[in-house]
Amino acid sequence: MIIARGRKELEQALSEVRSSGRSIGFVPTMGALHEGHLSLVRLTQSEADFTGASIFVNPTQFAPNEDFDAYPRSEPRDLELLRRTGADFVYLPLVDEVYEGGFDSPVTAGPAAEGLESNFRPHFFGGVVNVVFRLFSHVRPDVAVFGEKDFQQLQVIQEMVDMQSLGVRIIGGPIERDEHGLALSSRNAYLTEYEMSVARKLNVILFDVATAIRNGTPVSTSTAQASLRLLDGGFRKVDYISVRWDRVLAAVWLGKTRLIDNVPL
Ligand code: AMP
Repeated sequence: MIIARGRKELEQALSEVRSSGRSIGFVPTMGALHEGHLSLVRLTQSEADFTGASIFVNPTQFAPNEDFDAYPRSEPRDLELLRRTGADFVYLPLVDEVYEGGFDSPVTAGPAAEGLESNFRPHFFGGVVNVVFRLFSHVRPDVAVFGEKDFQQLQVIQEMVDMQSLGVRIIGGPIERDEHGLALSSRNAYLTEYEMSVARKLNVILFDVATAIRNGTPVSTSTAQASLRLLDGGFRKVDYISVRWDRVLAAVWLGKTRLIDNVPL
């Protein structure tokens, strides 16, 4: 596995791959890897010849009051997991390299970014398209895989790739869940044992909403009921529970931790 810490090293490795006519698959991550990330790497391996991931905790997608400093970092473990999964490369750039020339974004997020996450994290998708555009220009992948866990993000990235005519094929990877259905997330590491037991109710309630809507309950009724169930069940705050793209999507707070999840209708 090639470990590239700088853009030059990455270029060198990938230019050989390109000149031999092999396709490049890419999974951008912020590290603290879990089975969800690794499933995306495996999906990429079935779609491209030479595949890898980036590990980069992107400062521009965190607001000043958010958890950039506390975000879990576990580089040696991450590298071992990627090696065991058979990744061909990992890119670990420094902030200065990604944001050479400043933090201004070369791209803006499109209409998919409106509402939902943006109502609560207005800076978020601007930061995401900024970093993904920059990472794509370093890696120049043929295929990139993003998790359906961040469903709105997947739509925003597809839209950005289309608007910029980047020619990168975007694939969505299914949500990996634990044995209780809790969507795997690096932020689950923040949860206490008690909070974990509450967190596991989120997916159950979302699946119930989807079933109720399929059975004819109005969207507004079923989401309002679910919101009460979430609060009764121990969540501190519900940022949103909404239907879009034939999905029930939610963001909730558990103590100081914000969790998101979604299920198909
Ligand atoms: P992150 O490191 O949280 O920025 O996530 C990197 C990528 O992994 C994103 O495309 C996420 O949507 C995806 N991802 C995160 N959690 C999961 C999960 N439980 N199942 C599938 N993909 C995931």
